[in-house]
Amino acid sequence: MSTPTFRFAPSPNGRLHLGHAYSALLNEKMAREAGGRFLLRIEDIDTLRCTPELTQAMLADLAWLGLNWEEPVLRQSEHLADYRKAQRRLKDLGLLYPCFCSRQDIVRQAGNDTPRDPEGQPLYPGTCRQMAKEERETRLARGDACAWRIDMKRALAGLDEPLVFIEESSGTAVSERAHPQDWGDVVLVRKDIATSYHIAVTVDDARQAITHVVRGRDLFQATAIHRLLQRLLDLPTPVYFHHGLIDDSEGRKLSKSLGSRSLGDLREEGVSPAEVRKALGFL
Ligand code: GLU
Repeated sequence: MSTPTFRFAPSPNGRLHLGHAYSALLNEKMAREAGGRFLLRIEDIDTLRCTPELTQAMLADLAWLGLNWEEPVLRQSEHLADYRKAQRRLKDLGLLYPCFCSRQDIVRQAGNDTPRDPEGQPLYPGTCRQMAKEERETRLARGDACAWRIDMKRALAGLDEPLVFIEESSGTAVSERAHPQDWGDVVLVRKDIATSYHIAVTVDDARQAITHVVRGRDLFQATAIHRLLQRLLDLPTPVYFHHGLIDDSEGRKLSKSLGSRSLGDLREEGVSPAEVRKALGFL
């Protein structure tokens, strides 16, 4: 049996809040209880929004909270070549196509009754999937900016069995059927940063041999995409635990005492790490 391995994987595109603290503390606690490892991963592929200063502030906030993670910390910005390799493999499988549409193009193409993805965005209507090969090649050769989308129908057509994953947040192991088709031809290589969260998280959960992904419920639906990528890239599937979000029901109670201020603000106001842990139920 492999060592139970957990990770907290924040994106340093702003200061950490109580929701992050909750997720980090829960991961650490579950790792400890399982006699396993607790790793930290900095998800900073979006170099436009994630700055070295924010990363430093994030590490300082986590250390202040008293979290103990194993070194070394994985920084995704140092592994872009690995994400490109995974993308190359999907391209070689004939599963990605370039999309030259802007966000406005897509909104314009979508009517009011257009189906939406789990985040409420209009599903991509497939305009560039239908583009003639010649036009596609001309535009790529010309260097027109593009994202790369997965041809979801084609990807699913190649699977011989249903995609499932284990979800443990209810206290027992429940087998969940993954429905990546709910996302349509989702972008796997963004126009602006030449990779995506979905690719990077899938590659790195495997690289770090993560056995338990513990993260907020807001990412539950995205797990279907990760599950598909694991299958296409021959990577293992961890067990998932999508915890409730601190900013909903719990948050209302908390906001009376600690508010929606960042951990940095709380620190400056003299709130102690013990008070934060206690407010979040970790004492
Ligand atoms: N980096 C993501 C975030 O901060 C979390 C990724 C994950 O846990 O899978 O929202």
